[in-house]
Amino acid sequence: MPKLTVYVPAMKLKVIDLYCEEKKIPRSALLVNCAVSFINATHRNIKCDYCAKPALGKYSLVVYDWSSGEKKEIKNLCEYHVRKAENEGTEVTEIE
Ligand SMILES: [Zn+2]
Repeated sequence: MPKLTVYVPAMKLKVIDLYCEEKKIPRSALLVNCAVSFINATHRNIKCDYCAKPALGKYSLVVYDWSSGEKKEIKNLCEYHVRKAENEGTEVTEIE
């Protein structure tokens, strides 16, 4: 198991320890579980910028426009809109 060293401000550690004592769980378990559920919650809530479907991830799009030239945009896209953009000749790069 990899070991992590985390620096926590004393005030925050006091709050964490009180909670752990109350729930009878080890401090490390609380920190890891919180981090994982935070990440899961953030990922689940991201929706595609073009429709209401859940996004696959964050993408950098390079759009070529006749009047303004090359334009870079960051968008959350679902599977359908990633493919649609690629089919339209947009450069799609996954960033997250
Ligand atoms: Zn979409």
